[in-house]
Amino acid sequence: MRPIGEKCETFRSLGKKVLSADVEERDKRGAKDAADWRTLWRAAADAGVLALTVPEQFGGEGRSFLEAVQALHALGEGCRDNGMLLGLNGQLWAMQKSILEFGSEEQKSTFLPILINGDAICAHAVTETNSGSDVTGIRATAQKTQNGYVLNGEKIWIGMAPAADVAQVFALTNPDLGAWGMSAFLVDLNLPGISKSAPYEKAGHRTVPTGKLTFENVEIPQTSLLGSEGSGHAIFNLSIAWERSFIFSSHVGAMKRQLDETVLFARDRAPNGRPIINNQTVSNRLADMQVRYEIARLLIENAARELDAGIQNRMTPSVAKLQVAESLLENALDAQRINGASGYLTGECERMVRDMAGTITLGGTSDIQRLLIAAYQKGSVKA
Ligand SMILES: Cc1cc2nc3c(=O)[nH]c(=O)nc-3n(C[C@H](O)[C@H](O)[C@H](O)COP(=O)(O)OP(=O)(O)OC[C@H]3O[C@@H](n4cnc5c(N)ncnc54)[C@H](O)[C@@H]3O)c2cc1C
Repeated sequence: MRPIGEKCETFRSLGKKVLSADVEERDKRGAKDAADWRTLWRAAADAGVLALTVPEQFGGEGRSFLEAVQALHALGEGCRDNGMLLGLNGQLWAMQKSILEFGSEEQKSTFLPILINGDAICAHAVTETNSGSDVTGIRATAQKTQNGYVLNGEKIWIGMAPAADVAQVFALTNPDLGAWGMSAFLVDLNLPGISKSAPYEKAGHRTVPTGKLTFENVEIPQTSLLGSEGSGHAIFNLSIAWERSFIFSSHVGAMKRQLDETVLFARDRAPNGRPIINNQTVSNRLADMQVRYEIARLLIENAARELDAGIQNRMTPSVAKLQVAESLLENALDAQRINGASGYLTGECERMVRDMAGTITLGGTSDIQRLLIAAYQKGSVKA
């Protein structure tokens, strides 16, 4: 296996030279046409982005959590396409990890190799109209039949859904038990009765599609069940913990690039011959950006180190998600302030604001992370 430093260099270069291509135009168009992003997804897969955390027996590299987040940070330093970074990280952390952890041997050997090599894309289908922050509100059902289940329901705001080949779908197998009667399924999205919406016209992360999945009397085989029946809540809790801890690994790399570029801008921009960095309000803002970046990176690396050491601290993902997402948005806004009117032109600065605004909602809002942290502090939920 190549040393992680080399891997970081490859990923940084991939991000810069390949994945950032035409990002302004692709952002304007949105992700309606898969030709706009599918070749980039495959290029990322070819470079091994989706292989990082999967063991070698399934075609992966079996890297530690820490090595994986360091490589993904480097990818983000190079890549200006935050949508692509979100899609790739989402698949790595929310989907591939739970297939590895809970999948049968057949599910692992069927899905992991094709997800790693980019032949297939997986979506994580949890959210419904009445179940966003509160997953106990899920209404999708999977009714047991002789050969499997019949799936009904609608999932909204699902990353990659309009183009995904398979989805990890959460549905009630025993509605009387509420969330405790929830199960997870790996569903082939080509089955009859499944429809995918067109991509949403969303404000940020526009370069990859997000949309709705509708299931109408979809017959899924017994082999679709991920883990055991009724273990959906446990699977959700673990997959969302990985997502909260690591999904912004590459966004924090992008944050670093933006910080460096903003410092350079503040040094160079000298109306009346006096660089704006010499104004304390500007330099204070840059110092705050630096500190936010360092903390965000360290929180992600800390979460990785804990898992590498076998430590399961349930508060860690919420602390990381809250602080990292809020910092991504704050830094994007500060960069825009420092860039003055030029930061308000369509382009990198305003795109970073639009993209980073989404991070405080996806994967559970900042409000919900605060609630969870408070619950652990009070002892009402075991950390
Ligand atoms: C870019 C993006 C990508 C996404 N990708 C996916 C995906 O791939 N798969 C998926 O399943 N979902 C995805 N989502 C959905 C996301 O998980 C939900 O939007 C999120 O959990 C919030 O749910 P909601 O939008 O229904 O807001 P609501 O739950 O209706 O919340 C609205 C507001 O009320 C606050 N609020 C709600 N309940 C409480 C409470 N108990 N205490 C305090 N405040 C509260 C929230 O913090 C928020 O400010 C994505 C969302 C975005 C924006």
